[in-house]
Amino acid sequence: VPTVDLFGIRVSKWGMDDTVRYLAQAIESGTPHQVITANPIMVMAALEDPSYMEIMKKAELIVPDGTGVVWAAGKAGNPVKERVAGFDLLHELMKLGEQRAWKFYLLGSSPEVIQAAKDRLQMLYPGVKIVGWRDGYFKSEQDQEVVEAIQAAAPDVLFVARGADTQEPWIAKYKQQLAVPVMMGVGGSFDVISG
Ligand code: UDP
Repeated sequence: VPTVDLFGIRVSKWGMDDTVRYLAQAIESGTPHQVITANPIMVMAALEDPSYMEIMKKAELIVPDGTGVVWAAGKAGNPVKERVAGFDLLHELMKLGEQRAWKFYLLGSSPEVIQAAKDRLQMLYPGVKIVGWRDGYFKSEQDQEVVEAIQAAAPDVLFVARGADTQEPWIAKYKQQLAVPVMMGVGGSFDVISG
């Protein structure tokens, strides 16, 4: 992955097309990939918190979601192709997922929101298989049960919406156990999709 180094965080320089192509290969290879959609708040969090920095360093792919990140790359003299917003990436993966019959698992947001987001995505992309979904309001004691449910569903793509301070550490913690080819935090995306 061609990257630009921003304060020790390696952000992908790819545009949407190359990003999707890379993630399609990740799905074919079956190896776990954590995708982080970086915005300046997350970069600041990493600079202040070594454990968050560690998560950023271990992520297989960091895409420039925030315009501030796109700007900083240009300023550093190593511009990225374009902004790759997590929301758009979610839709692009769903689109390609229709053709390739990929399996998706949706985790996070309130029970009402995730149900509505699931219905809406299924309507927009009838060809994808949404093999599981659940809300993001569970305690750490329930982590294992949530992880096991995802393992049993064996998705190709896992979207997690629990707020940036929670979702990225959660994915990182269970990455090897979950072993989903593409795992990505999507923040408030389900709230938007559910209408
Ligand atoms: N969320 C969740 N569990 C939590 C906290 C938040 O599922 O414990 C969901 C929330 O319902 C929303 C999404 O995470 O759908 C993003 O939350 P928020 O906008 O508060 O976080 P941010 O993206 O601003 O960090």
